[in-house]
Amino acid sequence: MNDCLFCKIVAKEIPAEIVYETGRALAFRDINPQAPAHVLVITKGHYSDAAALADADDGLADEVLKAAHAVAVMEGVAEEGYRVVFNTGPGAGQTVFHVHAHVLGGRALTWPPG
Ligand code: AMP
Ligand code: ZN
Repeated sequence: MNDCLFCKIVAKEIPAEIVYETGRALAFRDINPQAPAHVLVITKGHYSDAAALADADDGLADEVLKAAHAVAVMEGVAEEGYRVVFNTGPGAGQTVFHVHAHVLGGRALTWPPG
């Protein structure tokens, strides 16, 4: 995926503040944070969205969720509570079509989301 922003971050062609990494997942700070802690967890391979991730190789979605929790612990928000969000499709506000889990915390998170 030559034109994919997040593939370029994986390839280190675009800089990002990487906070955590596993064999198949990468976590970096969102450039436009919506909470004191706002980290994106992506797959190193290209999957367009959470639906494609759900159909992916065995264990990959599990690895992304485990990485999201590890990030929450590292960011110090696991105890007070945090949110993991996959915007999936344009109607849900997805703008980058390389699957990413938003890990948000560090403030009161209201429900329902907008
Ligand atoms: P979504 O709207 O769910 O597709 O989320 C895309 C997210 O990527 C947004 O929260 C953006 O702020 C974030 N983003 C866009 N470009 C970058 C970048 N170069 N580095 C880090 N985060 C980015
Ligand atoms: Zn990509």
